[in-house]
Amino acid sequence: MDKDYRVLLFYKYVQIDQAEEYVEEHLAFCKDNNLKGRILISEEGINGTLSGTIEDTQKYMDMMHADERFADMFFKIDESTEHPFKKMHVRYREELVTLRLEDNHNPNDVGGKHLKPAEWREAMQQDDVIILDTRNDYEYDLGHFRGAIRPDIQNFRDLPEWVQENLADQKEKKILTYCTGGIRCEKFTGWMVNQGFQDVNQLDGGIVTYGKDEETKGELWDGQCYVFDGRISVPINQKDHVVVGKDYFTGEPCERYVNCANPECNKQIITSEENEHKYLRGCTHECRTSPRNRYVAEHGLSQEEVDERIQDLMKEHIEQEV
Ligand SMILES: [Zn+2]
Repeated sequence: MDKDYRVLLFYKYVQIDQAEEYVEEHLAFCKDNNLKGRILISEEGINGTLSGTIEDTQKYMDMMHADERFADMFFKIDESTEHPFKKMHVRYREELVTLRLEDNHNPNDVGGKHLKPAEWREAMQQDDVIILDTRNDYEYDLGHFRGAIRPDIQNFRDLPEWVQENLADQKEKKILTYCTGGIRCEKFTGWMVNQGFQDVNQLDGGIVTYGKDEETKGELWDGQCYVFDGRISVPINQKDHVVVGKDYFTGEPCERYVNCANPECNKQIITSEENEHKYLRGCTHECRTSPRNRYVAEHGLSQEEVDERIQDLMKEHIEQEV
């Protein structure tokens, strides 16, 4: 298939005056150029991911680079065969990444040391370092750096509390943080420094940059990298691919994410196509039998057919297990 499309990922912490007006202007430009994706704009900067044809994404990058505020902005570029986004959203936010800190700091003033991919790979292999994944648990579960700590959080804003509870006595140690594209660490490492952590380092450009690096070739990454668009995940390690994802129902190695078919739950679960059918894409008995189950509607199943499948599952005593 032809890779005629590109996906851009970018952020920059820089002062944007009249940010709410800039949102309107920005959205108009994106729509005029057939771009799709999600961009957040705040007085503290911009954070976005969007897709378009090679030509249209180039126009966007040229427009941004012509603006002195974004002249040095780095774009991470992926090739794609289509738009992985359905719509174009540009939204105003008070914070680019939501942490809601009492003392909000400017990441340009305080933060960890940026490590390039080769430096990061070397640091990861040193003794007595703490590799901290700053992403959410469901992102970690699909793939992560070998030996990284998995904070038990579903929201980035819960990370400061988790660190206070679990790493408060490790302030002398070398800390290595990473996230998808770098923006979460960009903000978070400043908080860690302010908390008294003495040797804080972050992966420059995040996991996606590491996966494209010619020298490291994504080494020491296991699994896939979760991304927030229609692709759901992208490969990182070009040398040896290890599957770390586990099927929600059976625990077998799996890298396929779906959302629970109960719209009130919508939980992300890793599961095979076979098990998706078997369990009506529901994460619990309640979700499988929900009158609003999307799987049932999509497959046009009659009530008898649903009952039959639920009966089969009960017979297997699966209900006690999941
Ligand atoms: Zn569910």
